[in-house]
Amino acid sequence: MSIQSNLNTIAASLPEHVTLVAVSKTKPVSDLMQAYEAGQRIFGENKIQEMTDKWEEMPKDIQWHMIGHVQSNKVKFMAPYVSLIHGVDSLKLLQEINKQALKNNRVMDCLLQIYIAEEESKFGLDEAELNELLASSAFKELENIRILGLMGMATFTEDQNQIKKEFTHLKSIFDSIQEKKNTFSDASKLDDFSTISMGMSGDYKLAIECGSTMVRIGSSIFGGR
Ligand SMILES: *Cc1c(COP(=O)(O)O)cnc(C)c1O
Repeated sequence: MSIQSNLNTIAASLPEHVTLVAVSKTKPVSDLMQAYEAGQRIFGENKIQEMTDKWEEMPKDIQWHMIGHVQSNKVKFMAPYVSLIHGVDSLKLLQEINKQALKNNRVMDCLLQIYIAEEESKFGLDEAELNELLASSAFKELENIRILGLMGMATFTEDQNQIKKEFTHLKSIFDSIQEKKNTFSDASKLDDFSTISMGMSGDYKLAIECGSTMVRIGSSIFGGR
């Protein structure tokens, strides 16, 4: 199957309220251009250097999403152009993103990554840390960021019940924040809090059933890595 037909099949199967991020990490620009020519405009990368190289080379109407773990000292390289940062998991990182956004005279959109898996290696905040961050006065001072929602990754397992439990957990945290968002220190940063980024090639259908509004799909579009 070609990249174009993979993409078209997946895109056509998604409900209208679900956004497709085509995860193109490790793939050459020629592969990304095939997806671009099929109409895809949102690409996800997990390394800032690689994403920046591709941004420089490719059409400027692409929205670049950083889906990987972000090191603070590299935020500056993507600050001029990045469209959405999925993996924000600390106040310190948010402060650096805010600083670089200010330098670039823009607002940067972020998702907060929530730890939902049963694996040691996955990054993210737990529910208590999330609430603490959103209620903090340090968060209130960040004028150049917006929090558009939450992101999570399920455990790498075949056990559908386990994955479903984790996605449902993320959705319930999302709902509780949405209900009380006006009580946080600076609710305006949460005005557009409406995105749940969850679901990859192996589990995106289940993720959508559990309330995902943004799926990050790589290998089912571009082939294995
Ligand atoms: C690589 C990656 C994906 C895509 O994974 P596939 O299984 O290839 O669809 C999604 N999200 C994150 C955070 C990733 O690193």
